[in-house]
Amino acid sequence: MKMLLAGEWVERDRVIEVLNPYDNSLIDTVPRGTREDALKAIEAAQKGFEEMKKLTAYDRSSILQKAAQIMDSRKEEMAQLVSKEVGKTINEARGEIARALQTLTLSAEEAKRLAGEEVRFDGAPPGGGKMGLYLRVPLGIIVAITPFNFPVNLAMHKIAPALAAGNSVILKPASATPLADVLMGEIFLEAGVPPLAFQVITGPGGEVGDTLVEDERVKMVTFTGSREIGKEIMKKKGYKRATMELGSNSAVIICEDAQMDKAFPRVVLGAYALAGQVCISVQRIFVHESIFDTFVERYVEEVRALKVGNQLLEETQVGPMIEPKEAQRVKEWIDEAVAAGAKLLCGGEVDGAMMTPAVVTHCPRNVLLFTGEAFGPVVLINPYSTFEEAIELTNDSVYGLQAGIYTQNLYKAWQAAKEVEAGGIIINDVPTFRVDLMPYGGMKESGIGREGPSYTIEEMTEIKLVCFDLN
Ligand code: NDP
Repeated sequence: MKMLLAGEWVERDRVIEVLNPYDNSLIDTVPRGTREDALKAIEAAQKGFEEMKKLTAYDRSSILQKAAQIMDSRKEEMAQLVSKEVGKTINEARGEIARALQTLTLSAEEAKRLAGEEVRFDGAPPGGGKMGLYLRVPLGIIVAITPFNFPVNLAMHKIAPALAAGNSVILKPASATPLADVLMGEIFLEAGVPPLAFQVITGPGGEVGDTLVEDERVKMVTFTGSREIGKEIMKKKGYKRATMELGSNSAVIICEDAQMDKAFPRVVLGAYALAGQVCISVQRIFVHESIFDTFVERYVEEVRALKVGNQLLEETQVGPMIEPKEAQRVKEWIDEAVAAGAKLLCGGEVDGAMMTPAVVTHCPRNVLLFTGEAFGPVVLINPYSTFEEAIELTNDSVYGLQAGIYTQNLYKAWQAAKEVEAGGIIINDVPTFRVDLMPYGGMKESGIGREGPSYTIEEMTEIKLVCFDLN
């Protein structure tokens, strides 16, 4: 495939090979963009922004609606591509495309709603006789850098609100999974986005990403990815806005009064969907000691029944991880936990990028499986005795993206809502729950800012005050 640079589909001699993680087969290649390509993209995006400024809110909304129609007509093609390049099951990939369509449609709606409001100048003594309002104006060039695990929907959470607000966008997708993002380039162009206002530049994060992040003509970097790269970008970005959607090691608290039949399918799905490579995967489960043994027994039974294998088969429930070295890393984390006293009850066998779903209990707090982001098909289940202890365990993390709690006790639910340090507290569901319109993002080192089209659009615009002196 080619990349979309300055309104043209371009090739380069050097390419990045995109592999199917299940069998390492070559799916396609994309150009290995360079620093010069990134600079050219920024130059084009400046002109693209001038074009975007001429569009009305109605135009921008209509373009996004048209993009949604085109994407809907190509949804199975996109799902097949996403399933192949990411390794997620075909059903998970279809789910991602359906969500991306939601994100796109919500953004089209927001384009029309975007507005400032009247300012009551006369509410302060020197303001008498003054009237006015504030406008919300676009920032300019927005650089979107995205991870491998949801190449379409997470990119859509950046592209669609940015265009809805009248910005121009340069997308730098993950090198492991750029193909569906290139397809998005085709879709937005066909929908009528000014050709210089949306570009998809493929290439290494260290070169293309760095150049885009450091350039002063870029007004905002919106990044989804690991905490480590997020922190690096914050150091390099200089004087520009940034949104950071980073990792987590999300916890679920299972109280003694939890509705087990409701909890069970969700706590299993939440841990092993996309082989655990979801930023809000269930990684740490804290179960009240009175129900710990029965919970663990049922959990292991359900995990053993999961169908693991080729992600393109309809019946597969858990596909491969993104690459063999990631599966190896997760195995090392499990081994470290076991050496420190944890028990491995099932799974953890590695074959290439495949890892069988693993369950670990009694995991010490000082090992990576507890402190780090596992980002693989493994959960730890530890017992707790008091509710305060469960909250303290949940908060024992540098991360704070989302957390879940199962209880029928209103007071406990509310206590968790107040005391758990996370961007979202999900009561009677797993932290993995997300609908695309809600404010989504992390506390602590899980990020800065919130996504969800109506919230993103605020971060992608600035306030311009207009004041009339009518004295
Ligand atoms: P990475 O942080 O490794 O990469 C993310 C993106 O950053 C890629 O496009 C990568 O490019 C790029 N990049 C790498 N180095 C630089 C650099 N120096 N400057 C600019 N860009 C750079 O994340 P993964 O793709 O491995 O994704 C997994 C991570 O994403 C997990 O930590 C997960 O929790 C997090 N995530 C967070 C979500 C959230 O909403 N909070 C949602 C989904 C995932 P390249 O591929 O070329 O290296």
